[in-house]
Amino acid sequence: MMILRTLDEVDGETARRGRTRGLGGICIPTMGALHEGHASLVRRAAALGPAIVWIFVNPTQFNDPADFDRYPRTLEADAELCRAAGASAVFVPSVAEVYPPGRAVEVPPLPRIATEPGLEDRHRPGHFAGVCQVVLRILRMLGPDAAIFGEKDWQQLQVVRAMLAGVWPDLRVIGAPTIREPDGLAMSSRNTLLAPAARASAPAIPRALLEAGRRGSPTEAENAMRRVLSEAGLEVEYAVVRHGEDLLAPRGQGDRALIAAWCGGVRLIDNAPWPMGP
Ligand code: AMP
Repeated sequence: MMILRTLDEVDGETARRGRTRGLGGICIPTMGALHEGHASLVRRAAALGPAIVWIFVNPTQFNDPADFDRYPRTLEADAELCRAAGASAVFVPSVAEVYPPGRAVEVPPLPRIATEPGLEDRHRPGHFAGVCQVVLRILRMLGPDAAIFGEKDWQQLQVVRAMLAGVWPDLRVIGAPTIREPDGLAMSSRNTLLAPAARASAPAIPRALLEAGRRGSPTEAENAMRRVLSEAGLEVEYAVVRHGEDLLAPRGQGDRALIAAWCGGVRLIDNAPWPMGP
């Protein structure tokens, strides 16, 4: 497995693979601090072709600078996880490589799903502009045939899908299921920031999704989620049932329950098909 750090190294590897435009293969965008959820994405990619993991903590998608500063960074362990999961390369660019000083990096037009639902878009202003900017920038640097994103970040998956359909229709975008801890908590790099008491409360999130999945109407489901979360001491940002594709009002088919909640000072998100649960 190779570790690439610059665009020149990517271009060198592209030529070595006998390609003229782009590395090809399947790209797995991440911010590092990798866990079994990321490993599942890498294995899925590696089963389809050369898997290229990018690791870059992108400053432009953090609406809170303190969140950026304390984001866990564990490059050595990340590289080992990628190798063990079958990655053929890891791309670890510097901030200057992605955002060359003095050069504006395009922010692609934001699809409606990045601004209308009032979910992540409302609670993390500027987040999707940063995500779309870095996704397009690094995918253009790498030139893959496909990219894989996790369903855990459901709105992000839909935003990226819609954005890329507009600017790069040939690129295949693959969604991958959420990997969970044995107690149901969705794996997340942010889980390492949870103090023991908060870690013990966090499974209220998948429990709330499960409760929601058993209710007969979206309103009952939303009330049930709020109740489970607040009883466990979590502070709810949203706990809603929406249509899975446009994230607007539920339609009775293809709906999803989505949660964002603060747990001991850490913001966690999760979602599941509704009705049903994780
Ligand atoms: P992140 O490094 O958290 O930005 O995530 C990188 C990619 O991994 C995104 O596409 C996430 O949706 C995906 N991902 C994060 N956690 C999980 C998980 N528990 N299961 C599956 N995919 C995940």
